[in-house]
Order: sequence, then C-alpha cells, then structure tokens
Amino acid sequence: MSERVPANQDDDEEILRKKKIGETSLEYEFHKNTLHTINEGDQPAWSVFGLDVAEDRGRITSSFKIPNESIGETRRRASERLADDLDSSRDLLITLSENPIRKSAVMDLFLETLSDHDISQALKKIVITNEDTAEVTDDEKILIDIFYPNISLETFEAAKHFSSNIRAIPDDIFERILIKHVETFNKNKEIFEKQLPMLKEGFITNIRNAIDRTSIPLSIKTVEDRLAPIVAYLQDTLTTTMRETWGEYLPDLLTIYIAEQLPPSEFTRVYNHEMIHALAGKAMLATEMPDEIGGGIDISNLRSGLLFGTEYSSDVKNHRFHWLNEAVTETVTLNLLSRENSASYVPERELLDLLLKKGGKKLPQQLFIDAYFESYDPEKPVDEHIPAWKKLYAEINEAYRPGFLLQLDKYIKRNDVKSAIKLMKLDWETIQ
Ligand SMILES: [Zn+2]
Repeated sequence: MSERVPANQDDDEEILRKKKIGETSLEYEFHKNTLHTINEGDQPAWSVFGLDVAEDRGRITSSFKIPNESIGETRRRASERLADDLDSSRDLLITLSENPIRKSAVMDLFLETLSDHDISQALKKIVITNEDTAEVTDDEKILIDIFYPNISLETFEAAKHFSSNIRAIPDDIFERILIKHVETFNKNKEIFEKQLPMLKEGFITNIRNAIDRTSIPLSIKTVEDRLAPIVAYLQDTLTTTMRETWGEYLPDLLTIYIAEQLPPSEFTRVYNHEMIHALAGKAMLATEMPDEIGGGIDISNLRSGLLFGTEYSSDVKNHRFHWLNEAVTETVTLNLLSRENSASYVPERELLDLLLKKGGKKLPQQLFIDAYFESYDPEKPVDEHIPAWKKLYAEINEAYRPGFLLQLDKYIKRNDVKSAIKLMKLDWETIQ
C-alpha cells in the first residue's frame, strides 16, 4: 500500500507519493541496475588529489585535442587551467594541513614524493630558509628509521613543516609532487583492483562459514543478492572526509570506499567491516518524482543495519543508534576474521558489551546480530515487517526499562559514548 505524505513540511503544496519497499521489490531491482550502470563507468575524478593538474599537463604535452578546437587552442586552455588548478590545490592543502585529523594525509603526500631527488632538494631549500623550523623529536627519529630509512632529517623536516611553506614551493616542483602522487595512486589502485576478487571471495567464504555456524541469519542467496551490486573503490583521503577513518559505505550508492592511505596490515579488516555494512539489512523508501523534474522513482535508505534515519545525509549525528550500528559491525567483522581486537570503535563495543550484561537479565549478542541483518519486509503482515528488531527492542525494555535504548542513544548524542560507559558501569538508572 502506498500512502500520500508531504515531501517537505515547509512546502505543503508539494505532495509526493511515497512507499516503503523491500529488497526483492521491482523498484529496488530497477534501482540496483541503474546504479550498476553508473558505477561501471570511470572512477570519479575526485578519487585522487592532483588529477586535474595531471590531466592539464597531459593535454599540454600530448597531441590530444578537444573536438572543434585546434591542438594549439586545447594546449593554451590547458595551460591557463593548470595555473588555476595548482592554486586551488595549494589552497586545499593549506586548509587540510590546518585540520588536526587530516594533516597526516598532507604529511604523507610529501613523504611519498621525497624519493624524487629534485623534490627533496627543493623542499630542503625551503626548510633551510625557514627560521621557525622546530627540532625533530626522538619519536619522529624512530618513525623515520622505521618508515623512511632513506630520508634525511632535513627533508623530513621540510615535509613536516611544509604546511606553513606551501606557498613557497616553486610551481614546477609543486606540479611534480601532484603528478607523482597521481602516479602512485594509480599504481596502488591497480594493485587494489587485482586484490579485490580475492578479498571478496575471502569475505564470502567467511560469511558462508558464519552462516553454517548460524551466527549470520541469512541465506547464501540473500548474501549474493545483497553483495551483487556493491562496488569498491580505492579513495585518496586528501580529496574527501571519510565517515570512518579508513573506509566508508554509502548505502544510497551501494558503494564502499577504502582509503589509499590505509596501512596494509589493516586492509582486510577494513574491507570486511565495510562489506558487513553493505550486507546489513535495510529499509527503503521509494518516492515518485514529479514529471517536471523528469519523473522516475527515487530510492532512499531509511535504515542500514541498526542505523536509523530518514535518509543517509552527510551528518551522521542526525541518525539514531550510530554507535550501536558500528559496535555490531565491528564485532561481526572481528568474529568473522577470528580476531580478538582492533583499534576501531573500541568505546562503542565496550558500551555494547555493558548493555548485554548490566540489565536485569543478560542479553545475548545474537539478538543484536539478528536485528542488524534483518531487512524490512512489506510483503509480510504488519506485525512481521521487522520481527528481530521488535524482539531486540522488547528484550532491552525488559532488561532495563521501556524506551531505554532510545534514552541511551539520546544521552550519547548530548554527551558521548565514553560518558555513557561511565554511567553504565556506575548505575544505568541514572541514564535519562
Ligand atoms: Zn562502520
């Protein structure tokens, strides 16, 4: 049944037809096929920092020409654009280097290009003329020994303080740094794409085993259906803020991104974590779009795993149970890989653990896992659309008090996960 609801409360003239759909619906089938066609195209230009500069240079030096233009004209335009693109790349790096979280990616960009003699000499020159240069600490010396044994202290210093000297880098050197970065990314992307089939196969084997152990409540057919449309891209963290440190899953695009800067030892774990997100149950809303904007049906996610929200907007804080969704995702990931621990979502997992233990009765972890993988099924009678979620919610109500999970989530939004852990340890009844 479809119902008519206002698309936007501020605009009651606009009435769109909306309905909840299941993952086996025709609407979702069509949506998956459309996305597949889009995703099959080239990787988006923003996947790697410096690509615009590399392309400008490519046009200047090659005999490539834009249709209806002479080669000379194409080159002239590319040269003009090159200057602008270099400028905006510098601006972006300066902005990023002022951001404590994203600064390390800027640092990596320079360290990665230091093996180039000209670049390293140019950076050295800049650091020598900069009087503010700080000393290299003992920790950093160890870091250099381990990760960059062929790099001199001066060049390391140059990279470290580069953020304050970005404008001082000569154009030709700066361009070379960006082009080298794009080349390195392309090499890594090639390796990533070669590894992908093996990674995916390993993931599916692990899932099959987990199904046999009955810890993952899905049929192989559902696993295959959910994973079939998923594409994975390597992503440079210089061009985007990932929702998670080293990866992300976008349910609206059925795409996962893995950070190029991810340490190799964490590669499998992060890939599996994002794939678990992709395998999670979902609830979707289909909206008939007005003819004036081309018609068609828009599909948005109401829920992905245990993360609830009207749509997956850029601000994750507007959604319910973000912490719980990540705690379960990482827990399932670690179970799947038979790993004891990881550095991801440690407080979230601790809070989940406390939630299992601290109530009037113990809650089995499987309750959460069952609800996580359950998709909304509109074909079933109303009471059976999401039975595992209902059961989970009722059991938490019983172990604590009615509405406790929602109260806990609201408390976390007002404070943070760590404060919630403190109260759960002391006296959960104080969480209001
Ligand atoms: Zn996650």
